[in-house]
Amino acid sequence: MSNEAKEIRCVGCGRLLAKVRDGQLIIQRGGVDAKVEGAFRAVLVCSQPRCRRPRSVDVLSDPARRMAFRT
Ligand SMILES: [Zn+2]
Repeated sequence: MSNEAKEIRCVGCGRLLAKVRDGQLIIQRGGVDAKVEGAFRAVLVCSQPRCRRPRSVDVLSDPARRMAFRT
C-alpha cells in the first residue's frame, strides 16, 4: 500500500483543494483540518474568488481498492 498523498487540484486555476491518502480525503484550508473516510463523492468548490469551479472526487474506502478514485 502506498502512503503517497494524491493531490486534488482545481481544474481551473490549479489551486490545491484537498489530498487523498489511504482512502481518506484530507482537507486543510482556512483553518479547517478535516479527514473523511468512507465511500463517497465529494464536491469541492475552488476557494479562489475569481474561479469558484466545482471539482468532484470519488473516494472509495474498500482496502482492496484504496487510492482508487476518479478525478
Ligand atoms: Zn480554481
